[in-house]
Amino acid sequence: MRKERNPSQLEALWKERDMAEGTPVDAMVMIMRTNGCCWAKTGGCTMCGYREASMKDVTEGDLLRQLEQAMGAYKGEPFVKIYTSGSFLDGNEVPETVRERILDSFSGCRRILFESRPEFVTQDSVSSLPKNVTVSLGLESSDPEILRTSIRKGFTPEDSRRAGHTVKGAGLDVRTYLLLKPPFLTESAAIEDTVASARFADPFSDEISINPLNIQRATCVERLWRRGEFRSPWIWSLIEVLARLSGEVDARLMSSPSGGGTQRGAHNCGKCDREALEAVERFSLSQDPKDLEVGCECREAWKHYMLAERLLGTPADLERGFGNDLTIRK
Ligand code: SF4
Ligand SMILES: [Zn+2]
Repeated sequence: MRKERNPSQLEALWKERDMAEGTPVDAMVMIMRTNGCCWAKTGGCTMCGYREASMKDVTEGDLLRQLEQAMGAYKGEPFVKIYTSGSFLDGNEVPETVRERILDSFSGCRRILFESRPEFVTQDSVSSLPKNVTVSLGLESSDPEILRTSIRKGFTPEDSRRAGHTVKGAGLDVRTYLLLKPPFLTESAAIEDTVASARFADPFSDEISINPLNIQRATCVERLWRRGEFRSPWIWSLIEVLARLSGEVDARLMSSPSGGGTQRGAHNCGKCDREALEAVERFSLSQDPKDLEVGCECREAWKHYMLAERLLGTPADLERGFGNDLTIRK
């Protein structure tokens, strides 16, 4: 039985390291409970488990009590990230008066970040925001067909581009999220898709955050995964994407893979996962491609995996069908 969730309590709060104004700083991350993403209520994106997490009837009073809880834990971190599992700019999730209270509470921070779907980004909604704000946009992919059929995002890449330029036009920063390996794509197609998407996002993004797909509960992707029709991406694929984009795009590249090193998240052979994820973390702060240099014999297995996918013409989880010996013998 699911535990009752209190609408006046934060979903989660933790501290981590991130960048603000070009330097690594302490960051506080707070996940607020709201009435949930408007798109999740219509079924949502294929990889998103937030429909399960959505609540009903969260009041302004509840949101303000969540803010109090956050202020109680706040120790002056220069960077504060406010996530709502939806859109901070959606008045149905966070009414404007509450939004202003939250932003005022952190007005002394060097940087505040929140997420929004592009339909809530308008000249009106962003022009009054304080200048320490970064708006995160979940572009996921710049391929309209992938966005429509594989991710079911409910907006187009052009919508994100418009939103990105609107945010930049208001003098604020943009962090763009890309989804590495949406369902139905092979590993190599996923790499190409993310590289192309980063090039698309670069002109309107200060940062590009690459999120390898992490299989969440009660999602379409989880059903595919249970049937052996999906393997979450290799960490090698993430490293490949970052290495190819490094020096090519102006935006800062970063990745902090949720569920990394587990079967549901980005993973390699198990032996090198930690080292590979640490390399990604180092690169995200340094932007130095040398930090991505990691060695393990499973790198060859990854290459064979991609070749086998191409030969068989399937994005199914080949490791499940054939074990980890996918050596293509000539
Ligand atoms: S991924 Fe974002 S836009 Fe899609 S359903 Fe989830 S919260 Fe909404
Ligand atoms: Zn390995």
